[in-house]
Amino acid sequence: MSESRSQDFVAELRQGIGRSGPVWIARDPVNTAMIRHWCDAMQDHNPVYTDPEAAARSIHKGIVAPPAMLMAWSMRGLEPPGETPGETSDPGSQVYRALDTAGYTSVVATNSEHDYLRYLRPGDELHSTQTLEDVSEEKKTGLGIGHFVTTRTEYRDQTGETVGRMLFRILKFKPGTGRAGLAGGQAPSAPPLRPEPGISRDTAFFWEGLEAGELRIQRCAACSILHHPPRVRCPGCGSYEFDWTCASGRGTIYSHVEPVHPSFAAFGPPYVVGLVELEEGTRLLTNIVDIDPDSVQIGMPVELVIRRENSERPLPLFRPLRPERRTTTRARDSIRTGDELPACPIPITATLIVSTALASRDYQDVHHDRELAKERGSPDIFMNILTTSGLCARYVTDWAGPEAVVKRLSIRLGVPNYPHDTMTMSGSVRAERGDRVDVDIRGYNRLGDHVTGSVELEIPAATGGGD
Ligand SMILES: [Zn+2]
Repeated sequence: MSESRSQDFVAELRQGIGRSGPVWIARDPVNTAMIRHWCDAMQDHNPVYTDPEAAARSIHKGIVAPPAMLMAWSMRGLEPPGETPGETSDPGSQVYRALDTAGYTSVVATNSEHDYLRYLRPGDELHSTQTLEDVSEEKKTGLGIGHFVTTRTEYRDQTGETVGRMLFRILKFKPGTGRAGLAGGQAPSAPPLRPEPGISRDTAFFWEGLEAGELRIQRCAACSILHHPPRVRCPGCGSYEFDWTCASGRGTIYSHVEPVHPSFAAFGPPYVVGLVELEEGTRLLTNIVDIDPDSVQIGMPVELVIRRENSERPLPLFRPLRPERRTTTRARDSIRTGDELPACPIPITATLIVSTALASRDYQDVHHDRELAKERGSPDIFMNILTTSGLCARYVTDWAGPEAVVKRLSIRLGVPNYPHDTMTMSGSVRAERGDRVDVDIRGYNRLGDHVTGSVELEIPAATGGGD
C-alpha cells in the first residue's frame, strides 16, 4: 500500500473514534448456571459465588457473580456481531471488519482494564454501550504488522445504574508477518537431551514407577526405613531385602542452588537444583520447575510433577504447591506494602483453555481449534484474555479471602499461554490506604511473562472473620 493510500486507510478507520454503538442488552440475565460454569472452569471456589448459605452470611448477603465475568455476560455468541441482518453494529466491530477486509485477519487481545462499581447478582440485566477510543497507525509487532484498536464499554443494570466499565485493546494483524513468519516459521534448534540415567536391577523399580506416574521410594523389608537413592544393603539393619512405597509427591524444599557455571546446554540455564524433603521423610535431589529461580525459598511447599524435561524418560520434578484458598478474609491491618503473595502454578492444558473460553462465551476459533489457530499463524490454541482476567482475580482473592472485593483489574498480555505449559502467578502488595489494597501481579510461563498488571481490592472492616 502506498503511503498516501495507507494514510487514507487509517483516516477511514479513525472516523468512528468517539462514536458509541447501540445499547446492547445481554442475552441472559446474570444467572447461577453461568456463574457455576465459570467457577468450575476457572477452579475458583470462593463460596460467595456458588454457595447460597455462605454467600448469605457474607457482606454480599447473597450470591454474587465473579467480577471478572463482566464482559462474559454481554458476549454475543457464535455468530459474530454485525452479521445479523438489520443489526447496527458497534464502531469497534466496524473497524474490525474493515481490518479483516484489508488482510488484518488475525486478532489478539493485549490490554484490559475493568472497573467494578458493584458486584452483579443473579437477575441483573446488563446493558452495555461500546465507544471507539482509538485506532493506532500501522505497527510492526512480534506477532505481525497490524493496528491496535481500543474500545471502552460502559455497563449499566436494569435501573440504569452504572455497574462497571471496561477498556479493551486488541491487535488486528496480518498473519505470517511477525517474527516467526518472517523467519520462515522455523523453530529454534532443540537443545541436546539430558544424559540418560544408569539403570541397574536395584534402581529399575524407580524408573518403572515414573513411567507409571508414581514416585517409588525404596523401603527396607526388615526395618521399614526409606532410602533414596536406592541401596543394595540397608544401612540401618543390614538387610538385603527391599520393597518400595509410593510417595505422596508432597514435600518441602530443604536446600537449593541455581548452577550458573559451567553451563550445560541440556539443562537450561536457568535451572534450579533442589533437595526436596518428602512428606515420608526421605530426601530427593531434583529440579524445581515452573518458578522464577529468584522466588525459590527453603521450606517452600512443593509437589511432584512427572514429565519429560528435555529428556527421553519422565523425570520426577517439583513445583510450588498451589497455595490453599483462604477461608477467612485477611484483616485489613494485617496487610502491609511489600507483602509477597505465594507463587501459584496453574498448569495450562487444552482442557483449561477450551473450557474457560466456553465458560466466558468466547467462541473465537483460536481458543479451541488447533488447525484454525495454526492457519492464523499461531503454533497452537491459546488462552483468551477473559480467562487470564478470571485467573488473576482468583489468585488475589484466594490470597486475601472470600470477602475481599475486587474494585479494579488492569492487565497487559505478553506471550501467549499455550497447552503443555504452566503459568505461575506471583504478586506483591504495592500500596495500601484506608480499606484499599493494590496488588501487583505477574503470571509467567516458559516463554516469558504472559500477564502483568494490578488488582485493587477493598477489604471491608466488617468481613465475616479475619485473623
Ligand atoms: Zn533395614
